[in-house]
Amino acid sequence: MTIEPVTFLGRVKRDRESGVVIPVSEAARRMSAYRVAASVDFPLMEEMRDRAREVRLHTLANLDKYLAQFASQVEANGGQVHWAADGDEANAIIRQIADDNDVRTVVKSKSMVTEEIDLNESLEAAGLSIVETDLGEFIVQLSGDKPSHIIAPVLHKTRYDIGELFAAKLDRGFSTDPAELTQMAREHLRREFLTADMGISGCNMAIADTGTVVLVTNEGNGRLTTTAPRIHVTVMGMERIVPTFGDASAVLEVLARAGTGQRLSVYTNFVSGSRRHGDPDGPDAFHVVILDNGRSRTLGGQEAEILACIRCGACLNICPVYREVGGHAYGFTYPGPIGAVVTPSLKGLDEWHELPYASTLCGACVEACPVRIDIPKMLLTLRSRAATDGHLPGWLTFAIGRYATAATHPRQFRLLLKAGGVVGSMMARDGWISKAPSHGANWTGARDLPQPAKQPFHARWKARHGA
Ligand code: SF4
Repeated sequence: MTIEPVTFLGRVKRDRESGVVIPVSEAARRMSAYRVAASVDFPLMEEMRDRAREVRLHTLANLDKYLAQFASQVEANGGQVHWAADGDEANAIIRQIADDNDVRTVVKSKSMVTEEIDLNESLEAAGLSIVETDLGEFIVQLSGDKPSHIIAPVLHKTRYDIGELFAAKLDRGFSTDPAELTQMAREHLRREFLTADMGISGCNMAIADTGTVVLVTNEGNGRLTTTAPRIHVTVMGMERIVPTFGDASAVLEVLARAGTGQRLSVYTNFVSGSRRHGDPDGPDAFHVVILDNGRSRTLGGQEAEILACIRCGACLNICPVYREVGGHAYGFTYPGPIGAVVTPSLKGLDEWHELPYASTLCGACVEACPVRIDIPKMLLTLRSRAATDGHLPGWLTFAIGRYATAATHPRQFRLLLKAGGVVGSMMARDGWISKAPSHGANWTGARDLPQPAKQPFHARWKARHGA
């Protein structure tokens, strides 16, 4: 197996003979290592994590006040604020802004919240052309794919995949050189920036006392999106607020360090409205769409703290489950540990009750999280609610009930282990079970199960040390 560089973000394990590619785990491991190195390099890291957490929790506790302050400051700066209860409303508002301003072409910088509301699909259905300009998101859009990581959307792709994609879609020669591939995208996108009528951005933070939107990027596309087209629309989740510039700085101290191991991302943009008299560039109009989409409900519930998330991606990189299954397995915009809490919180447990189980509860995410969000605790409350709301399948409730009885009655427990050992060895070949019956087939359809020990631990202990 050889290790070869892939995208701008990491390296990939590729077995050149079998063609097997395992990019996610390796790239995620690398990003985690960068985070650890950056923390070691910054003696104030723990202090700043506490400070950033304090800022986020204080803001959430006073969200109504800071949202109102932010909105009135945006308006004082000449911008317009729109409130959207859900994704449909947000999309309708943006379509209306486009309609009112004869917009035909749109460029967009990376934004998870617009993924959350399917903004691209909504604008395309209205006949608009929309182009993603973040390199990763551009690749995702060209390939008709979905992002698999909140800060590295194409973590699941190799430079070979991207070379083939660009050769086919951009009519360029095949290359696997990251610098050449980036140059191809840059040349293509430059034309889009210069002709777009509207630029849509997300928002890492929104500063209440100045009405400023903060965009944290590693590419110049955020700056071009917000300044080149004549209309700029920012879409933000209502929890993105921080009270002051000083508070934003505290969050910036930990954001890039936790996400990519950088002291600061390459570009940190502060946007406080449209072009003013004498400004050399900037849009004619600035709109902010503030989205609820389940956040108010989350704020009033047991998972409110998840709204303190600063979307750094550290919990994804460290998570043993995410590393194995990748981002698409989580089924929605937000993958990894953060997604396992955010998605059911925002969209309800009826449809998303399985996600809180996508965790080993190892606690690595809390260690990595720059604002110390206790994700495992929230996963447990969600699991408990899923069970009490009747979302567990009947067979599982039955099996867990039987297990609980056996686990509290030693004789039954020993019998169960013995039976498991016998049945397991009947099904196993060379120490592995590759075809389990019934619900077990869901597991063995994807990977083999190790054969249970023929002699349970208790029996081995007894044989070795006596009763
Ligand atoms: S939960 Fe914490 S570690 Fe995960 S993305 Fe949010 S801030 Fe980062």
